Amino acid sequence: MSRFLAEKYQGMEPYTPGEQPQDRKYIKLNTNESPYPPSPKVIEAINAEEVSKLRLYPDPEAKLLVQAMAKHYGLLPSQVMVGNGSDEILAFCYMAFGQKGICYPSISYGFYPVFSEIFGVKGQAIPLKEDFTICIDDYKNVGKSIVIANPNAPTGICLTLEQIEEILQANPNDVVMIDEAYVDFGAVSALPLLEKYDNLMIIQTFSKSRSLAGGRLGFAFASEELIEDLNKMKFSFNPYNINRLTMLAGVAAIEDQAYFEQCSARIQKTRAYTTQALQALGFTVLPSMANFIFAKPSAISGTEYFTRLRQAGVLVRHWNKPLIEDYVRITIGSEEEMEALVQITKEILQV
Ligand SMILES: *Cc1c(COP(=O)(O)O)cnc(C)c1O
Repeated sequence: MSRFLAEKYQGMEPYTPGEQPQDRKYIKLNTNESPYPPSPKVIEAINAEEVSKLRLYPDPEAKLLVQAMAKHYGLLPSQVMVGNGSDEILAFCYMAFGQKGICYPSISYGFYPVFSEIFGVKGQAIPLKEDFTICIDDYKNVGKSIVIANPNAPTGICLTLEQIEEILQANPNDVVMIDEAYVDFGAVSALPLLEKYDNLMIIQTFSKSRSLAGGRLGFAFASEELIEDLNKMKFSFNPYNINRLTMLAGVAAIEDQAYFEQCSARIQKTRAYTTQALQALGFTVLPSMANFIFAKPSAISGTEYFTRLRQAGVLVRHWNKPLIEDYVRITIGSEEEMEALVQITKEILQV
């Protein structure tokens, strides 16, 4: 740390991303990326002609993409916002709607408390129930904004649409952000609630179900007024937040519905296989609707399982934190990768 860093940031704990090792080849099941490449239409869309246009700034309104998203999801373009990853959209939400504070589940996406710190928002972590589910009553009349990942991370557990509606009804004067980064793997989106609730903000991403984590593209759906607020943040911070190539990739990805459905179905099938195989080896596996599972071995600790997998060339995610230290989060990779994980697990457990 230099002697120049602002005092208010000196004690800040930054977000720790999962490792992206460049040293050796791992079976990489630690950051919830897709095992499949982006749609072939994405690869076609990024051609030499478009690369040569990089000398020009991109469209600050990302109109082509916003229109394509609106059409795909049956909304008006004025109800759609795109961001440099959904992380950027979340950041704009904290800036715009954090005045009275923001609450979130105590076990959830690691960025929520970090954003509280950097934006000087009063964050409140609400404990989960013992079974890792969210207690809806804890989110009623909270008097501040709410952000909930649905399905939640790293548990994979989701809320029903009815539960989300209860939260929206109980907080009519505060913004409720539903982070649907993992919604495309079998959960239900809050999209149908949009016309009824002007306090609902839905946030999604191209990083997981559309195989574009490296493109950095997220989006939000909300009332025209809420989207206008987010755009006010964006145009005061980074008007060219979507680069030219990412915008084209996004349009191509959203238009290739068949490829998207095929990848998502394949991941759900592999999730069922992996869950069963680990349960047969004595693991506790939480019921996941995401492209990862949260699993606890019965014979060894979470730390030991994580370390032994790493030695064997498999990367998963582990947190040395109370309540979840016995678990590891395993991204659902390809069929072959998950078969390898199961085989290596058998060797570690000597069964
Ligand atoms: C991955 C993830 C995001 C961020 O995704 P990007 O669009 O890549 O920034 C947001 N929320 C949750 C819960 C995630 O797991």
